[in-house]
Amino acid sequence: MRRCPYCKIEIAGDNVKCPLCQSKLMGTGEEPCYPKFEAKKKRSVFYKSQLLAAWVLLIVGLGLDFLVGIQLPGYSDLHWSLLLAMWLLVVEFGIMRQFKPGTGSAGKVTKLVMLTIVMWCITAYFLGFMKITIDLVVPCALAATIVANFVLAFIDKNGNTMSYLLSGMFIGVVPSVICYFVMDKMPLAWVICLMVCVVLFIGAVIFKGRAVAAEFQRRFHL
Ligand SMILES: [Zn+2]
Repeated sequence: MRRCPYCKIEIAGDNVKCPLCQSKLMGTGEEPCYPKFEAKKKRSVFYKSQLLAAWVLLIVGLGLDFLVGIQLPGYSDLHWSLLLAMWLLVVEFGIMRQFKPGTGSAGKVTKLVMLTIVMWCITAYFLGFMKITIDLVVPCALAATIVANFVLAFIDKNGNTMSYLLSGMFIGVVPSVICYFVMDKMPLAWVICLMVCVVLFIGAVIFKGRAVAAEFQRRFHL
């Protein structure tokens, strides 16, 4: 029988991870308790409808752009349907990930925000609103994500505080530091983003310090 060294419980069957804390179990496994269950992925009607809608938008967009030649006013040589296709892909990717079990919310949120920001920058580059994007939109999006991650860190009951905090720190501090060195003068929104990040981190250490320390020991087997 396998054993979870952290939860101090024994797990029958051939589980590799602890069902409570997801840590790796110790000991040797036994015969599986349950027959192999090949779950047929059932996708909801909502999922199928939105997927169809995305395909319709994509095909109509490409047709109007490349075959009919309809252009965005003011952008005569821009194939806007390619931008549309890119965004549809991001949206579908985001929805798909919501259906995929197992990955923590912190990683999910952070990856999706990063992807969205990159897509937004590409769009801004082609449509010509790059300056406001860099000065305002990106830092605001990052600050909002940091706040969301810290809120999740507080309401999380599975001992995943640290992953939220680290995600928050990563997306707050790294771009701000890059921004500081690349730009002559750091835009105000970036300064606010960095301050939000640091203040929330200090708050998290004050309120959740013990939980973070415990999680640190658990994850790194100290
Ligand atoms: Zn456990």
